[in-house]
Amino acid sequence: MSFDQLGLAPSLLDAVAAAGYDTPTPIQAKSIPAVLEGKDVLAAAQTGTGKTAAFTLPLLHRLGETQQKKPRVLVLTPTRELAAQVNESVKTYGKSGLLRSAVIFGGVGYQPQISMFKKGVDIVVATPGRLLDLLQQGHVDLSNIETLVLDEADRMLDMGFIHDIKRVLKYVPNKRQTLLFSATFSNDIRKLASGLLHNPIEIDV
Ligand code: AMP
Repeated sequence: MSFDQLGLAPSLLDAVAAAGYDTPTPIQAKSIPAVLEGKDVLAAAQTGTGKTAAFTLPLLHRLGETQQKKPRVLVLTPTRELAAQVNESVKTYGKSGLLRSAVIFGGVGYQPQISMFKKGVDIVVATPGRLLDLLQQGHVDLSNIETLVLDEADRMLDMGFIHDIKRVLKYVPNKRQTLLFSATFSNDIRKLASGLLHNPIEIDV
């Protein structure tokens, strides 16, 4: 299996080559075609498996190279570190630089985050609490979200973010693609997944 069999745009294949990746990891080989098709995905994935590229590459492909005023992709993560890491991947693989991403987390000032949304953002990578604050203050419009990603969903539940996640989701259209990545599959994760995902492709590598 090679990256050019997966259906990704040439600019993304260039970015993958520039990153020095030869072959897709198992989760990438399974997830990339499913995400490109617009399917919901439920994936068991530990850190280090290449899970970030498994969703960022196909989502960048789907977004194309046109900016829109309102964000179309929302990635929720448990920690600011993971949010920053996902944002780095978006910047590394989105070589055209046309798509704009905003990374949102707490513990820092509001103003720089608010001004990013004023200018326009295509991809939001956020921890749930701060995003909820910005939504409740009316600074963020998630009504055009096409794909929602829950990254490290088990950690988000462990950290007690379920209520914030549910509140955030009230601002996101129900008709959307949803991807859920989790290292473990507890009953709580299964319950969350069954409420959020429609006929998901299940990936367990
Ligand atoms: P992640 O599991 O997303 O945290 O990725 C773990 C590490 O694997 C990151 O440093 C990526 O840059 C790297 N990586 C992702 N995909 C590949 C690949 N197909 N080949 C080699 N390294 C990769």
